[in-house]
Amino acid sequence: MSEQIPPCRDDAAPAFGPVPRRSTRQVLVGKVALGGQAPVVVQSMTNTDTADVAATTKQIAELWRAGSELVRVTVNNPESAAAVPRIVDKLAMMGISVPIIGDFHYNGHQLLTDEPACAEALAKYRINPGNVGFGKKKDTQFAQLIEFACRYGKPVRIGANWGSLDQALAARLMDENAQRAEPWDAGRVLREALILSAIDSAERAVELGLARERIVLSAKVSGVQELVAVYRDLARRSDFALHLGLTEAGIGSKGIVASAAALGVLLQEGIGDTIRISLTPEPGASRTQEVIVAQELLQTMGLRAFTPMVTACPGCGRTTSTFFQELAQSVQEHVRSKMPEWKITHPGAENLTLAVMGCVVNGPGESRHANIGISLPGTGEAPAAPVFIDGEKAVTLRGEHIAREFLGIIDDYVERNYGRRLP
Ligand code: SF4
Repeated sequence: MSEQIPPCRDDAAPAFGPVPRRSTRQVLVGKVALGGQAPVVVQSMTNTDTADVAATTKQIAELWRAGSELVRVTVNNPESAAAVPRIVDKLAMMGISVPIIGDFHYNGHQLLTDEPACAEALAKYRINPGNVGFGKKKDTQFAQLIEFACRYGKPVRIGANWGSLDQALAARLMDENAQRAEPWDAGRVLREALILSAIDSAERAVELGLARERIVLSAKVSGVQELVAVYRDLARRSDFALHLGLTEAGIGSKGIVASAAALGVLLQEGIGDTIRISLTPEPGASRTQEVIVAQELLQTMGLRAFTPMVTACPGCGRTTSTFFQELAQSVQEHVRSKMPEWKITHPGAENLTLAVMGCVVNGPGESRHANIGISLPGTGEAPAAPVFIDGEKAVTLRGEHIAREFLGIIDDYVERNYGRRLP
């Protein structure tokens, strides 16, 4: 029987909302603060060939425009290392200052030695302690990477991963486990290996001279329950800032649900300073989906606000029209497309709440709970759509231009309620 892992906090959970954020050390990545009491930061990763400067710059810009506050790129060969400073320069020329994180495996020490401009241009290094090197070279190569971080004043994420676990450490823990009077099950031993790999590597980095405020930890696995168990333990045993992510979450709804389930539990417990949703993009889909999912997770949990939230009913036999689905979609797309501008001109608009409802059953009630809500006519109802603003019925829309008029009401509300600032 597998062991029961207790929750990491002893204090009682509040009656409503997440427990306060766990106290961690604050880390500065470029100008972005994570950890401490900073808001949970959204990050993403490119899937272009980093050596392709134009394609990678374009994708980073897309991720940044979608709201990614940090972007990680693979640095796996001399060409990609040489491309990094050029990418950072191009982004700067476009007015984009998003911190770029370099993801290193196996040869990071060599790439940074050969390409110091890459070491300088990156805002953070991600080091996987299971992939730093093998045998006797492992410690030397790890020390070289930390030496670069110290020399260039960069933070480091020590990112252990279930798929590239330090095999020597795992084997040692398995041997020690076999000597126990009551051996742990294999899953617990492997979780312990993952956690120890992250914590011991971080402590080694500190011994080598890297400040604790320059270290972020992660220990990613692909199973929801395993991830929750690993991070509860990691949070209990260290005060480093934590990067959360369910690795290899999968494609489409499976990846979204699994990531939200795992990260939702941890964030509710006050664990996690930065998140990434590791979605496999559907063919042809935009890479920015992982950013939108991360933002929506944080916003639906009440941790941050990024874009006005649209509440919409699922529809049922009371409405045979697809009009309310189309309206809900166009409202969602409208506010998402306007938000980059509103962020500058009308700060606070991200807190706006909207409702698009399909019939009279829950329509007026739900619409009254939102800042702006519309209750469309269901089957057999009079063809009229009352609009509620801040709980009061404000106007009734009719005819062919309901969608356009409703979007106009939203824009007008934003204009009147969120102070205009000149861009
Ligand atoms: S609001 Fe009306 S249309 Fe929408 S799910 Fe409820 S009963 Fe059905």
